Amino acid sequence: MHGFAYQNGSLHCEQVDLQALATEHGTPLYVYSAGTIRDHFTRLDEAMHGVDHEVAYAVKANSNLGVLRLLAGLGAGFDIVSGGELFRVIKAGGNPAKCTFAGVGKTREEIEYALQQGIYSFNVESEEELRYLNQVAGELGLIAPAAVRVNPNVDAKTHKYISTGKSENKFGVDFEAIPALYDRAAAELPHIRLRGLQMHIGSQLTSIQPFIEAVEKVTPLALSLKEKHGIEFWSIGGGIGIVYHDSLAAGDMHWWDAKSAEERPLTLPQYGEALVPRLRDLGLKILLEPGRAIVGNAGVLLTRCLYEKKGTAKTFKIVDAGMNDLIRPALYEGHHEIVPLTEPGSERRKVDVVGPICESGDFFCQDRELPDFQPGETVALMSAGAYGFVMASNYNTRPLPAEILVDGSTASVVRRRQSLDDLIAAEL
Ligand SMILES: *Cc1c(COP(=O)(O)O)cnc(C)c1O
Repeated sequence: MHGFAYQNGSLHCEQVDLQALATEHGTPLYVYSAGTIRDHFTRLDEAMHGVDHEVAYAVKANSNLGVLRLLAGLGAGFDIVSGGELFRVIKAGGNPAKCTFAGVGKTREEIEYALQQGIYSFNVESEEELRYLNQVAGELGLIAPAAVRVNPNVDAKTHKYISTGKSENKFGVDFEAIPALYDRAAAELPHIRLRGLQMHIGSQLTSIQPFIEAVEKVTPLALSLKEKHGIEFWSIGGGIGIVYHDSLAAGDMHWWDAKSAEERPLTLPQYGEALVPRLRDLGLKILLEPGRAIVGNAGVLLTRCLYEKKGTAKTFKIVDAGMNDLIRPALYEGHHEIVPLTEPGSERRKVDVVGPICESGDFFCQDRELPDFQPGETVALMSAGAYGFVMASNYNTRPLPAEILVDGSTASVVRRRQSLDDLIAAEL
């Protein structure tokens, strides 16, 4: 389910009319559905029923304080990738003791900050990092809880920029090297407490098979590390894919209940059904690190059409959002469904929807059959809740858009639009 649907001919987020939001707050405008975020979190949590587990939301997918506060209230843990994200989690009322810290390049400042805040685990990506963590913890007179990220060398069958579990990716430590590394750590690194094992094979996985393959491959390793080094948790990472194509219609029919494979590339119950029996009896606490699956279809980016430009080869709809606001199409060839806020008829025209940025990569679709819309009208880029605002930049000196969190019939501004003064505030 997601909270976006036409009601009486106009697109709503839950009970709030999106055109009214666009008129009041301007565009480009990110709008998130709190009900959808709650629903996704709860469904994933329920899908893992029977396994001792914790859902550690991957903050980088959408780190707005309003979103983090909502998830903290649901009892989520948090998977962070920087000191800045830890700061956000704490500001949003999240518990550092439920935070895991991933990433290949943690700095001394970040390590010290996370140690002082008492995070649950450093998810370490190399032996060099583990030794450095030991050194910093020793200097502070602390013990660092740690897990090593194992690279299981499994093909996630996703876009090459978001595949992370193959030997040629920069992430993790080779599967074969893990046992000896834990042995060395136990023998030589007195300020490390080996607390768990971690993996994350990629993002936007649309088939369950790579997850099964990775879990089956790594299970004996996790068990032997539990036996030998007393680890207590195994994080199986995030990466559950979502529907991007026709996601508006899919929302109406509760996509994870739909039957055909194209309609539901991977559903939360399917994920649970496949993994629960494989994880239930290991005697390990299982951590999940979903980002996209929680927030991806819980957000849209509203943008207003500025011009229609008819070229000899193409028709361009020029909108006021650009790749600086939503970079997924340019960065990963990401697809976002584009729908008018007023429910369209069946007529379609082939157009390119492009932004105002001076880059040829600044488009939201090319040669796509879309319902027609005119300059002055606002459209929604669907499925923009994950890796949307968080990747936005000021490129072309464009202010960052505002963010709205809708809950039922209430719409709260959870981040105001940047002003021109904000743009230069830090410059001396
Ligand atoms: C990005 C990331 C995630 C979340 O990935 P999604 O595809 O958004 O679920 C989880 N764990 C780690 C280590 C990550 O880097």
